[in-house]
Amino acid sequence: MFDNLSERLGGILDRLTGRGSLSEADVDAAMREVRRALLEADVALEVVRSFTDRVREQAIGATVVKSVTPGQMVVKIVHDELVKTLGDDGQTIDLNAVPPVPIMMVGLQGSGKTTTTAKLARRMVQRDKRKVLMASLDVYRPAAMEQLAVLGRDLDIPTLPIVAGQMPPQIARRAIEAAKLGGYDVVLLDTAGRTTLDEDMMKEAAEIKAVANPHEVLLVADSLTGQDAVNLARSFDQRVGLTGIALTRIDGDGRGGAALSMRAVTGKPIKLLGTGEKTDALEDFYPSRIAGRILGMGDIVSLVEKAAANIDAEKAARAAEKMRKGQFDLNDMREQLLQMSQMGGISGLMGMMPGISKMKNQIAAAGIDDRILKRQVAIIDSMTREERKHPDLLKASRKKRIAAGSGQSVEHVNKLLKMHRNMADVMKAMGSGKRGPLAGIAQA
Ligand code: GDP
Repeated sequence: MFDNLSERLGGILDRLTGRGSLSEADVDAAMREVRRALLEADVALEVVRSFTDRVREQAIGATVVKSVTPGQMVVKIVHDELVKTLGDDGQTIDLNAVPPVPIMMVGLQGSGKTTTTAKLARRMVQRDKRKVLMASLDVYRPAAMEQLAVLGRDLDIPTLPIVAGQMPPQIARRAIEAAKLGGYDVVLLDTAGRTTLDEDMMKEAAEIKAVANPHEVLLVADSLTGQDAVNLARSFDQRVGLTGIALTRIDGDGRGGAALSMRAVTGKPIKLLGTGEKTDALEDFYPSRIAGRILGMGDIVSLVEKAAANIDAEKAARAAEKMRKGQFDLNDMREQLLQMSQMGGISGLMGMMPGISKMKNQIAAAGIDDRILKRQVAIIDSMTREERKHPDLLKASRKKRIAAGSGQSVEHVNKLLKMHRNMADVMKAMGSGKRGPLAGIAQA
């Protein structure tokens, strides 16, 4: 599953991780290749665009932690963005309703609807210990009704007896009545599919939905059909309303485009994956696991996570120590500014830190808002190491050079220095007491 995409992305990112440092041009070149790989995997163009844009922006702005290479950071960013694109973890079938809980399966003929119905029933019976009734509503294909009955016999799961001449909404009503009488927990309604998306199918599905009032409406879609599956989901959702998607034939899907586009395009979660023909070949959908499979770089991802956690703890300890000693230079300030912007900017921070409200006035006086954080960092970056440690030494001529170097005015440089002095004073005052806000900032 996802073999081609895995190989392509793996190759591109491997080349990045081998290098010492990364330039913007390196990131751009890699993103062009990632874009091509995703398009070849049949991922929707809009999804590809926003994905590569987001990765690029973060990769270029990322602060690289000591023990990992910039390329490894990029792998982690790609991984996290894949997870975001695939959706949130834990979106599984919801059975939280008064039993019998009706679940309606919709989709095209041949998508794996009947098989998935049987797989889901089997799992609910065997794993979740529920009492499940299955009903086929495919009055157009007696063979399909028979297929479900055969699967039910094999699995020892009851199916609703077939009554000739009934229409699908009637059968749905009968199934729910039978489930109530029989004390069932769940009733699965396997509706009829057509070979293509047509109005009759939609109309019928809407009618059945109105009668059955299902707790879940799952679209069963064949992942091998790529973007067609995504378009199908969008139409079904608009016309009938879906609660989730079961993506089948993942076992044969080397490309993965449908899985990657589905959530972003339709807004509906993939809840189940069909991974084979047998009735036990069903999996829950965990975006983090899938992203891991696609990238196959779990080692690097956890390495960067650990390194980032260590670095934060180290920084916190160092910052606290400096504060106690009343030392707070521009390097420390730079660190704080970067962390602030990573943590959702000033407004996000204010809500989180109890101690920092004392600094609110200084920050407001210095005119910091979230955009300005980046400018402040640029000014500090234009200083020499010595100057950052001892900003008092800065003369007018150097301030001019620093302003020019960072594309700012001397006034901005002066504002920054004033802000630093104010912050250092507040730090010192707080540092002499108990643990100040800085340790909190660095740890959060
Ligand atoms: P329906 O017409 O939508 O009800 O489709 P079926 O359930 O009859 O499935 C059509 C074919 O696809 C059958 O041969 C199934 O065994 C096969 N199938 C269904 N799901 C999967 C899957 O996840 N993987 C594979 N490899 N085959 C599947």
